[in-house]
Amino acid sequence: MLRFDNIVFGPIHSRRLGASLGINLLPEHGKLCNFDCIYCECGWNRDGRGDRSMPGTSDVASALGAKLSECSAKGIHIDSITFSGHGEPTLNPDFPAIISETVRLRDEFYPDAKVSVLSNATTVCRKDVFEALCKVDNPIMKLDASTRDGIGIVNRPSGRYDLESVIEGLEQFGGNFILQTMFLRAPSFDTASEGNLRGWADIVRRLRPREVMVYTLDRETPEKDLVKFTEDEMRAAVRQLEEEGFMIQIRG
Ligand code: SF4
Repeated sequence: MLRFDNIVFGPIHSRRLGASLGINLLPEHGKLCNFDCIYCECGWNRDGRGDRSMPGTSDVASALGAKLSECSAKGIHIDSITFSGHGEPTLNPDFPAIISETVRLRDEFYPDAKVSVLSNATTVCRKDVFEALCKVDNPIMKLDASTRDGIGIVNRPSGRYDLESVIEGLEQFGGNFILQTMFLRAPSFDTASEGNLRGWADIVRRLRPREVMVYTLDRETPEKDLVKFTEDEMRAAVRQLEEEGFMIQIRG
């Protein structure tokens, strides 16, 4: 399973984001997420090693400052500074302050680089989290199914999850965000089933994100009976939305 040994790692090449410096705000030796997705590259939550320590604002600022300064001195190109890592970055209690520091350091060393956050969108209703997400260039928000049941199967939320509240939280962006959706087939779920796909397209129409990223399985998954989509299948599934003018990036 995917593991990051440092708070700041890379740059790694990402097809979506170019030369990307990654930031892991979650425990170094575990996974911390309020979802437990059947496809999570970090494995099941229960397989984390119980490490719950997270870096604070000063830890991240000094690690990122050092890395950016080093890369700048060596002439290394960076397109993106991306928050991903071992779980949901917005669960770090210092997330809002860390975003402010990251934007400050980006402006100092790599003013053209984009700051991106990959989030499962569960905390978008929190005012401090939403305001922090509005400061970054690319808030990339996950929505993998169009019903509570579908999300229960694919994302397995812990605690209370209210799909309508998450959609209302995403509406606050006024379309200025990127919606990310995993396309997969599991024994009791199919992204392209008529009911799910119709509901998902309606959510896209309601939210009008500036971009939709659809992608499929790429690495080892904790649930074994999953089937990936082909690029053609994904393209067929989103054709109607493309015809309606939505910008859709497909990653097979
Ligand atoms: S939201 Fe992301 S980190 Fe959390 S379980 Fe799902 S894939 Fe893993």
